[in-house]
Amino acid sequence: MAEKRDYYEVLGVSKSSTQDEIKKAYRKLAKKYHPDMNPGDSAAEAKFKEVNEAYEVLSDESKKSKYDQFGHAGVDPNYGGGGYSYGGGGFDFGDMGGFSDIFESFFGGGGSSSRRNGPRRGQDIHTGITISFEEAIFGTEKTISVDRVEACDECYGSGAKKGTSPATCPTCNGTGQVRTTQRTPFGSFASTKPCSTCGGKGTVIKDPCTKCHGSGRINNKKTISVKIPKGIDNGQTISLSGQGNAGTNGGMAGDLLITVRVTSHKIFKREGQNIYCEFPLTYTQAALGCEVEVPTVDGKVKYEIPEGTQTDTTFRLKGKGVPSINGYGRGDQYVKVYVEVPTNLSKEQKELLKKFDELSGKKTYSKQKGFFEKLKDAFTD
Ligand SMILES: [Zn+2]
Ligand SMILES: [Zn+2]
Repeated sequence: MAEKRDYYEVLGVSKSSTQDEIKKAYRKLAKKYHPDMNPGDSAAEAKFKEVNEAYEVLSDESKKSKYDQFGHAGVDPNYGGGGYSYGGGGFDFGDMGGFSDIFESFFGGGGSSSRRNGPRRGQDIHTGITISFEEAIFGTEKTISVDRVEACDECYGSGAKKGTSPATCPTCNGTGQVRTTQRTPFGSFASTKPCSTCGGKGTVIKDPCTKCHGSGRINNKKTISVKIPKGIDNGQTISLSGQGNAGTNGGMAGDLLITVRVTSHKIFKREGQNIYCEFPLTYTQAALGCEVEVPTVDGKVKYEIPEGTQTDTTFRLKGKGVPSINGYGRGDQYVKVYVEVPTNLSKEQKELLKKFDELSGKKTYSKQKGFFEKLKDAFTD
């Protein structure tokens, strides 16, 4: 598949652009590449599609944030085969101002979604999944069980008994609407209502399907495999396009939205792409320096603690953090050391320490001098 252009680049806007700026940029480009303005120009047509696709995502806060988080894979079911996608309906051309009539002529008039026998998108299903700290970092695959509405597999969603098919409604001739004319002393008034025979669907079922009793839909418990991308964080949502409830009258299925919860780790804490941990040093290790083995999510790593390391010193292990969910780079691990003061000393240890202290002076404890001088200053002011 050809590399997709960045949606912000397509519209010539930046990530920080407001919805107003995005809309403005979109209008300008949609007008420029509109098929009506460029008859027979397939390059313009391709641009027009690209611009519309970018706007469909960037104008929708929820899709935009998915795009910002996951890139194209977050909004396109076919992109990179990852399956993170967002179904969504058609374009929303509401509030297009003076430009809307061009769109209406192009897209065949507005308001069709209110027709009761038109295709209706199925509802989204919201669910959650809990994964471990490590699984969030390296990605995993899980199966979840979802109760959802599916098209009946006996009648393929038609609602008609196997071997038969729904018939055109004789009352409304398949339009789903009936027109009534009322005569009054002031003249005739015509109005349309949903057809009561077929409930606005335009078809009637003479022999209902035995499995779904004519509804065309069944409740099913479905086991779904979910690929969890590396780098996902607590609270983020994975969207599986078309895995929600089935639509009606040929409408597309809703999406399955899975919010990820990540359990906390005994040693590591995570903030964005960085990992934090604390590491204990003995009094002697900190004073003399030593080589230690620091735990990371990749396993133990050797690190040279320099002589005279103070408590709360933080050092960085580059590239030992969380991989970016977009696939570029990896965060770091920050290790904060603390010095454990020895306890339960034997008589001999105490004597050695006392002896050590006798040999220690201002050179050994440079901070002591500074502190007591500041203290003196603080009380003489
Ligand atoms: Zn009817
Ligand atoms: Zn059925």
